[in-house]
Amino acid sequence: MHNFEPTTAAAWARLAAVQPDTYARTRNAIEGAVTRLSPYISHGLLGLRDIYDYLNARHPLDAKHKLVFELGWRAYYHHVGAHIGDGLHQSLHTGVLPDDAYQTEMPTDVLEARTGVAAIDMAVRELYSFGYLHNHARMWLASYVVHLRKVHWHAGAQWMLGHLLDGDVASNHLSWQWVAGTGSVKPYVFNADNVAKYAPAPWHSPATVIDTSYDALDRLARSVTAVDHRMDGRFAGGGMAQPPLMHAPPDARWLAPDAALAAGRDVCLLHPWSLGAFSQPVNTDALFIGVGFSEMHRQAPWSARRWNFVTEGLLARTPTLWWGGLEAIAQALQGARSVGWQPQAPANAVLDNLRAQLASGDPHPRVSATTERALFTPVEPYCESFAKWWRLTKLAL
Ligand SMILES: Cc1cc2nc3c(=O)[nH]c(=O)nc-3n(C[C@H](O)[C@H](O)[C@H](O)COP(=O)(O)OP(=O)(O)OC[C@H]3O[C@@H](n4cnc5c(N)ncnc54)[C@H](O)[C@@H]3O)c2cc1C
Repeated sequence: MHNFEPTTAAAWARLAAVQPDTYARTRNAIEGAVTRLSPYISHGLLGLRDIYDYLNARHPLDAKHKLVFELGWRAYYHHVGAHIGDGLHQSLHTGVLPDDAYQTEMPTDVLEARTGVAAIDMAVRELYSFGYLHNHARMWLASYVVHLRKVHWHAGAQWMLGHLLDGDVASNHLSWQWVAGTGSVKPYVFNADNVAKYAPAPWHSPATVIDTSYDALDRLARSVTAVDHRMDGRFAGGGMAQPPLMHAPPDARWLAPDAALAAGRDVCLLHPWSLGAFSQPVNTDALFIGVGFSEMHRQAPWSARRWNFVTEGLLARTPTLWWGGLEAIAQALQGARSVGWQPQAPANAVLDNLRAQLASGDPHPRVSATTERALFTPVEPYCESFAKWWRLTKLAL
């Protein structure tokens, strides 16, 4: 169904298949013509500007096109992330209930896709099977988890983040907050009619807790009591095994930093968010090293599927992979002639620290880190709403 091969060629092939006008008409439907570009965007195989330039050259896209607008949401979430940093992990404002009204563990029946609400069980299965979920299904899943099961949005966001191949803290955590009502003016709720309108039959959820009116669901969202999910009666059956959460990549594929390898060389670092970087290397003798910093993953483990995507993507570029702590990697790079990476990963304090550590050595390598070619002009005042940011930005063409 949705297979994502972590290579630049696969990313561009998928881009070539995008039909902007069909997208605009059908994007809300689970089986609509969405682009499925997100894993390639999050892992640096395609930038927003690449997407726009390619599509605009074939089907002129004005700034109001639905697809440009959706790319704008990603850019906006990164605008927020750049301003609030670790604040992404806190509620932006109080929601319908105080933070401590929610539990901090994901319920087992949700994790195992056996809530009895078909829309939720299908969404969890798709998430585990493909590492991808349609936007509407993400909204339904987040809404059910937060408003009906009373799980804090952050617990749900961390769980989903680890399973999505496109997992991106800014887009993920701010979307969960939008659903929860801590980043929007009201809680997002959905009902069985909405599912029936946008999803195929196996997702339909008649006679379940969501088969009610929006007013009733809004009241449930504002109540401190979680729904008794056993009210849903029959279970979907079969069940999912507990997902294979891995706290580190497959050891056998990863080598320890080796300073001798980098000594005197121009090093091009490829990190998990820049799988497509250096399509034109700085020189023919440059050494490509794929790096994974354990600091980046301590708080938010990834599923085996996501690790495979990233590891395969790095291996497609170089056989040399280093996995470890920032300090060990910085030390092993100290003797290089130059170290470069592109682009700077979103809100990535670890790469900023790497730059500082490399600069503090004596002698130290020349360091160059580039930023992505922007699609939208930067907006300086911090905008608390997408609407405000959208009014102030323009296409940076
Ligand atoms: C609870 C929840 C969690 C989410 N977590 C993530 C995440 O971790 N990473 C992520 O990239 N997106 C996330 N999104 C946003 C959105 O669901 C995905 O970007 C989109 O579904 C990806 O599929 P696509 O590439 O087929 O999207 P398309 O609809 O084809 O859109 C094209 C591109 O536009 C951007 N985009 C579209 N819709 C949104 C949106 N609502 N918010 C931000 N960017 C958008 C994405 O970069 C996407 O790849 C989340 C949304 C929700 C409701």
